[in-house]
Amino acid sequence: MKDILKIYILLMPMILLALNGCTLSKSLSERTSEIHDQILTVDTHIDWPMRQFLNPDFNPGVRHAPGQRESGQWDLIRMKEGGLDAVFMSIFTPQKKRTDEGHATAKEVALKQIELTKKMVAYNPDLAEIALTPEDAYRLEKTRKRAIFIGMENGYPIAKDLRNLQLFFNLGVRYITITHSKNNQLGDSSTDEQPEWGGLSPFGEKVVQEMNRLGMMVDISHVHDETFWDVIKLTKAPVIASHSSARMFHDVPHNMSDEMLKAIAKNGGVVQVALLDDFIKEMEQTQERATALEELKEETFALLHGELSQAEHKKVMEKMHKIDEKHPKNRPTLADAIDHLDHMVQVMGIDHVGIGSDFDGGGGLVGIDDVSEMPNITRELLARGYTADEIRKLWGGNLMRVFNQVIKVAEEPQKQN
Ligand SMILES: [Zn+2]
Repeated sequence: MKDILKIYILLMPMILLALNGCTLSKSLSERTSEIHDQILTVDTHIDWPMRQFLNPDFNPGVRHAPGQRESGQWDLIRMKEGGLDAVFMSIFTPQKKRTDEGHATAKEVALKQIELTKKMVAYNPDLAEIALTPEDAYRLEKTRKRAIFIGMENGYPIAKDLRNLQLFFNLGVRYITITHSKNNQLGDSSTDEQPEWGGLSPFGEKVVQEMNRLGMMVDISHVHDETFWDVIKLTKAPVIASHSSARMFHDVPHNMSDEMLKAIAKNGGVVQVALLDDFIKEMEQTQERATALEELKEETFALLHGELSQAEHKKVMEKMHKIDEKHPKNRPTLADAIDHLDHMVQVMGIDHVGIGSDFDGGGGLVGIDDVSEMPNITRELLARGYTADEIRKLWGGNLMRVFNQVIKVAEEPQKQN
């Protein structure tokens, strides 16, 4: 009897610990759904419009099973399921030749994607509405409808005409990423072979000023460092990086150095952590995958540099998907991405960081692979000790503050140049 008592006494702390663990994990998931449900959650970068442009048969109003290639990473039902209240649909145009013809085609492609986005909302009036202002997002959240904002990735379709900027603003575009992967008529990209303008071009400077005047957010994801510093010097309003992470953890040109992060904090802006593997961590891949990718190298280069027709683009995407199926990519995890977020919060403060998934455009990590899994971010933040109010700021409060400030600057014409 004595021995049994002894064992019991010895085991007691472990039993208590186990019980405590159960309550903790239960309360963590309870707290996750409670907070995730209460706050406005915003994702500033989803590439669904280009995906829809290439796959017109996809119906965003029905649920597609997660993890299937045909499902993509976003539809309205999974967005609701994941408690994601607002998204910025990115109107992305791959950059081709910078001729009048190239610009005109890009404008057409952009207009088509805007039309597709509006049609998607029009076909699903009970589920979603187009949003133009922060107030729209907060109002829609109360009615449990998804807020669909429009952003634009690559300023290429503006051509060399500020009237196009006004046109896109009138159609609902509320941010523009100055460049994509190549230099354009507005300035230098972080990933082109070499800089062409030494930062913003003279026309790019006019575009930034006009965006300030209109109340459109300037997005510095993808731009060359010199372009970044030119924008920071010139802008009268805070800027955003709709999908960028930290160079401190992964030193790729697309990510932000600590110096740049600090400059954005000083500018009052926000950097939205990207959930894209190549921006988060370099992972070892199998030899088979490397060989298969090497064989497709020329075609992927042409795709990334906008040298393919729509049909060719689709074909190469198919081949890439096949490689992914046959030799799956070893990807970083959600926790790796939140390491970036932690660092950015440390460098910039809690008021300058947010989330921009890049879903349907290459985004997706282990633990967060489509919009239905968004609560996993809230759970990870809670587990790391962020308070409900800090999570509210990270999930959209910061972005909406910046957006309001951008509108305010536009309403103060006396302060403009
Ligand atoms: Zn991008």
